[in-house]
Amino acid sequence: MHVEGGSFVGGGRVAGRGETIELIDPATGEVCAVYADAGAEVVGLAAERAAAGAVAWRALTAAERGRRLWALGESVRAAVEDLARIEAVNVGKPLADARAEALKVAEMFAYYAGWCDKITGAVLPVPTSHHVHTAKVPFGVVACILPWNAPLFTAGWNAAPALAAGNAVMLKPSELTPSSALALARLALEAGLPEGVLQVVNGLGATTGAALIRHEVVRKVTFVGSRVTGRRIAALAAEAPKPCVLELGGKSANIVFADADLEKAVGGAAAAIFSGAGQSCVAGSRLLVERSVHDEVVERLAALAQTIRVGAPLAEGTQVGPIQNARQFEQVRAMVGAAGAAGCGFAAGGTALEGAGFFFAPTVVTGAANDMAIAQEEVFGPVVAVIPFASEAEALTIANATAFGLAGAVWTQDPGRALRVVRALEAGTLWVNSYKAISVMAPFGGFKASGYGRSSGAEGLEEYVQTKSVWIETAAAPAFSFGYG
Ligand code: NAD
Repeated sequence: MHVEGGSFVGGGRVAGRGETIELIDPATGEVCAVYADAGAEVVGLAAERAAAGAVAWRALTAAERGRRLWALGESVRAAVEDLARIEAVNVGKPLADARAEALKVAEMFAYYAGWCDKITGAVLPVPTSHHVHTAKVPFGVVACILPWNAPLFTAGWNAAPALAAGNAVMLKPSELTPSSALALARLALEAGLPEGVLQVVNGLGATTGAALIRHEVVRKVTFVGSRVTGRRIAALAAEAPKPCVLELGGKSANIVFADADLEKAVGGAAAAIFSGAGQSCVAGSRLLVERSVHDEVVERLAALAQTIRVGAPLAEGTQVGPIQNARQFEQVRAMVGAAGAAGCGFAAGGTALEGAGFFFAPTVVTGAANDMAIAQEEVFGPVVAVIPFASEAEALTIANATAFGLAGAVWTQDPGRALRVVRALEAGTLWVNSYKAISVMAPFGGFKASGYGRSSGAEGLEEYVQTKSVWIETAAAPAFSFGYG
């Protein structure tokens, strides 16, 4: 397994027909692979195979689908090292993080394998002579359009419930990170998923992505990515119309009260923003600190930021790797520059690292007001804006004063306060004295501009089935009426 592009259609690789795309190793800035955009023609081929794959997949018993998804989870587990190396080179993810994410993907297939034979309807006690039952049926073919920050993780996160519900899946990874989904599709075939059930079309959003959403075979679209693109995806899907799940960005508030265990809170705050070089939808990018401990927290966080080992993703011991691509790197630089120009200070970092690759120093921004761009827009880099607050009420006002609503956290030793705060925060995932814990068992998704629909858990499965109501007349001599019966 290695870094590569191209598509996986039916049982094997198909080259794209569109423009050439260069993949850059973010740790060196050097080209590490080239491939051609799939384009509408390859999407068409894959859609035909997906339609046939969906029929073959549904023809299996639910228990058999479960066995094969379980086998896929085991294959992923056995391939963790290879998968992690692909992500390390292609995404710039430190090996330890990439291994952990690959293991989570194995868990996703194991978890949803168990759901396959537990998708049931109900019998409804209607006040007529009918027997009425509901059935939860798959859509048929689902398209999943994915971002570059966690290509394998988001592929598993969306494909596992969609497959468990009985759908065929077409994955469209980011054009920047095509490789790990190809590896996953190969593993799926080896694990016994019929050809066409899990395919990958690699290429650009405007060509391959749009063709996928518009294709008549695709009945449901899941999108994981930025707010700006999410709007376009929803508009494209609305043309049919076909339903969407949108998992978008965030500007999550991580709130530290003066009564918190400050050592744990500072460690948690550092992990919340610096892990993955801040390229995480749930990154704790706004650190709200009670004024009486503000200076101490800033000082400790800055000291910790300076000890973080930023370096080559393949080197064991690296804690933070590079920014994945040049455009994002420039965005981080520009946003940090603008924060400085707006009067903010830097208790740590504030600059890119010297040398090759897209490395940026873990950065602690002070003196930011919550209405500044650095506190309102997603930086998607290792940059945290620290904002002081005077009271619980003020913390909540600041925390909710954002367009986003993906996640948030509170650090306190007062359980009543913890509960009050999580109740009042407008976000889909909340942590108390913790940050970034995630499991396929818990529903995940956004409030407000962070998107709609849920992935993972039982609710994630519900996104991939539609309900049929079936009315069966049981009366020997039914009475017909010309209105509603
Ligand atoms: P992006 O929006 O730029 O791209 C995402 C995907 O959309 C890519 O595959 C891209 O090719 C495709 N795309 C772009 N234009 C398209 C079009 N017109 N039609 C169809 N497809 C199109 O996002 P990104 O920069 O790759 O990823 C970073 C973003 O993803 C951040 O905002 C981050 O917060 C978000 N994200 C969210 C979650 C979540 O679960 N909420 C998880 C990971 C990342």
